[in-house]
Amino acid sequence: LRFGRDDRCKRSLRFGRDDKIVHDRIKMKLNELTIKKARELLDKGEVSSREITQACLDQIRAKDGEIHAFLDVYEQEALEAADKSDARRKSEVLGPLDGIPIALKDNLMLQGKRCSAGSKILENYTAAYSGTVVRKLVDQGAVILGRTNMDEFAMGSSTEHSAYGVTKNPHDTKRVPGGSSGGSAAAVADNMCLAALGSDTGGSIRQPASLCGVVGLKPTYGRVSRYGLIAMASSLDQIGPLTKSVEDAALVLSCIQGQDHKDQTTAQVADFSPKWKKDLKGVRIGMPRQAWEEKGVDKGVREKVEAAVEELKSAGAEIKEVDLPYTNEALAVYYLVMPCEVSANLSRFDGMRYGMREKDLSLFETYSKTRVNGLGAEVRRRILLGTYALSKGYYDAYYVQAKKVQKLIHTGYEAAFRDVDALVTPTAPTTAFKIGEKTDDPLAMYLEDVFTVGANVAGLPAISIPCGESDDLPVGLHLIGNWFKEDELLAIAKRYEH
Ligand code: GLN
Repeated sequence: LRFGRDDRCKRSLRFGRDDKIVHDRIKMKLNELTIKKARELLDKGEVSSREITQACLDQIRAKDGEIHAFLDVYEQEALEAADKSDARRKSEVLGPLDGIPIALKDNLMLQGKRCSAGSKILENYTAAYSGTVVRKLVDQGAVILGRTNMDEFAMGSSTEHSAYGVTKNPHDTKRVPGGSSGGSAAAVADNMCLAALGSDTGGSIRQPASLCGVVGLKPTYGRVSRYGLIAMASSLDQIGPLTKSVEDAALVLSCIQGQDHKDQTTAQVADFSPKWKKDLKGVRIGMPRQAWEEKGVDKGVREKVEAAVEELKSAGAEIKEVDLPYTNEALAVYYLVMPCEVSANLSRFDGMRYGMREKDLSLFETYSKTRVNGLGAEVRRRILLGTYALSKGYYDAYYVQAKKVQKLIHTGYEAAFRDVDALVTPTAPTTAFKIGEKTDDPLAMYLEDVFTVGANVAGLPAISIPCGESDDLPVGLHLIGNWFKEDELLAIAKRYEH
């Protein structure tokens, strides 16, 4: 009665009670929230963006000494952005990412901040402008927490090719987090942020998501602008989210998508908006025979993914075996087309225009010394492979041939998607491997991409979602969707997750 008379007290009493229920029910720290849950609490006024941001910063401080997910943390700016969001919330209805702490892979440019793409050659490079996706996040009020570690120029599957040391997998710190977006995946898995962005050229969002037990989405090529993403292979690169749930991935995608006149490869298509499903009745999911015959898949991974397929079936999906004749050639095509584009894209790092310069007697020696000292072994290997494959006399035999097979792969997927709505495979053939286990054997490392590269070679959307554990390490379920049908793909993924 006494509180009833005082409106303010009444309100705080009401919130006080909810608060307790919220905490009893979800028993979570603020940094462990999904974006969806955080938004609910923010909208109700039960937590502030500052509190969530501070919880993430505390977690980074407590854990990142060991994990090394971040290359830089923007503590002051993040708290300021959080305060601004809290102030806005008092008078406005805010967008879904306003006040949400997000981490960026180190190849996404944020004006005024270091952006090194995990490379020594860009160690002191400061981004001259913000990329489209980053600008969208900032404009929508997201709190940018920092930049995350990655394999140099996104080439790798473990972060071991970063010039700044390896990131550790939060599930077992003797193991890699996957790559190249390993820093982003580890940051999400260890609750140092609510979500992160990565880039995926051959699997670099999905494979680390799989190895770290989080959700990773590569959108259809052309769905999301690449402007301001330091290019690896421009015809394959796509930016996408790493999140704690499928719904969060959908949220981030809806905020970063869209045609952009600064990236002429972005498509003029209807915006993505999620269409969730109650069950999977009428949904047809294909198991590509050639992929499932792949020999090098761990027993534990196969069991979990097969069990997931059973779950999809019991949710009402029709499971079909399908033929994808050039599945096994996708890896070969990728490891030709990608290095060719790498060799062209990375020619701009010559010691003249960006970052480091090793001055020497002649111009030629300045170029070569800069590139030898500035670029790591894996990057130089790919530049050499690409330069070779593009050179006179070899171009037709290698590059043109690969492009022809790429077309066949594309046609194969087109045929498959006439019969099914999605394709299912494991995301990666293994769970997280030990640090150092594959560093001396590039081919073994390349095989990590066997299930993921097809989606890049064909430009399809694909997602990895956790589907259990094998020997206490996360396993990822890989779903590939039809071009620009992210709504369908995410609906299936969410139904499975549920
Ligand atoms: N692991 C793959 C590679 O090394 C994928 C890289 C990527 O998607 N950026 O090329």
